[in-house]
Amino acid sequence: AVPLVVAVSTALAARSGFLIRDRSAFERAKDLTAVVFDKTGTLTTGRFGVTDVLAFGGAAEDDVVRATASVEAHSEHPIARGVVRSAEERGISLLPLENFRAIPGVGVEGKAGGRTVRVVGPGYLAEQGIAAGDERVGTLQRQGKTVVFLLEDDRLTGAIALADIIRPESREGVGRLKAMGIRCMMLTGDNRDVAAWVAGELGLDEFFAGVLPHEKAAKIREVQRRYRVAMVGDGINDAPALVQADVGIAIGAGTDVAVESADIVLVKSDPRDAAAVIDLARKTYRKMF
Ligand code: ADP
Ligand code: MG
Repeated sequence: AVPLVVAVSTALAARSGFLIRDRSAFERAKDLTAVVFDKTGTLTTGRFGVTDVLAFGGAAEDDVVRATASVEAHSEHPIARGVVRSAEERGISLLPLENFRAIPGVGVEGKAGGRTVRVVGPGYLAEQGIAAGDERVGTLQRQGKTVVFLLEDDRLTGAIALADIIRPESREGVGRLKAMGIRCMMLTGDNRDVAAWVAGELGLDEFFAGVLPHEKAAKIREVQRRYRVAMVGDGINDAPALVQADVGIAIGAGTDVAVESADIVLVKSDPRDAAAVIDLARKTYRKMF
């Protein structure tokens, strides 16, 4: 039989905006000492808008947008959606594309107009030893903007900066957790400057940047050597980390894969409810014993 206090708490949980998929994980939530948040789509809305277009070596801005959007039109990534929307708004027509390929956490590529076109993050450029265009790139990143780069036949021809919006509830969520004695961290595939800006805005204790999708679970394992950890995420690439964590928490508006990998779902996609989960678990299981 389900103890009465737990039954009452489950009803309370539903009203508070979270859904318990695994009751033993909810019990473990009382002992958590750290929460690791994914950035894009979790602490931020994941809705990117293009803010700046940089053209290098005599390229035209519209051509940079056209080539980039032609590849991104085949991707579901939040960055891709932002780029394609921007091309639409500028009335830019796209090029036919062949051999599309997405590399998780790195970027996308395809063949258009007889050229190999790649759209990648700063990690790929560093790996290939390609300089990041000019000093405007660093300035944009320090403003918290995500910058992606356009490579045509391995030549850097442009860059596009996008801004995502921090969820208005994130700051308060982090504040509540810290007041409860919980260490707050962030895990992201995005670049260090962007991550540092978001971490500063939210008052996070620690962050890990440039983490590739397949490295996220290992990062959680590393944090587990020091803390009892909840992971909060929304994406397909967060699923293994949600499973690895002591408690996996999915953002309700996230992908099906994330929701199905999680123990608890924040139905209103409100990061403050992560604090509510731990608070209710503490109260529930303290009453029982
Ligand atoms: P996060 O961990 O923040 O949710 P991802 O792992 O999905 O982010 O992506 C990490 C980085 O990989 C992005 O910041 C970007 O640099 C690059 N990237 C991934 N997919 C794409 C894409 N479709 N277009 C351009 N860049 C991409
Ligand atoms: Mg995400």
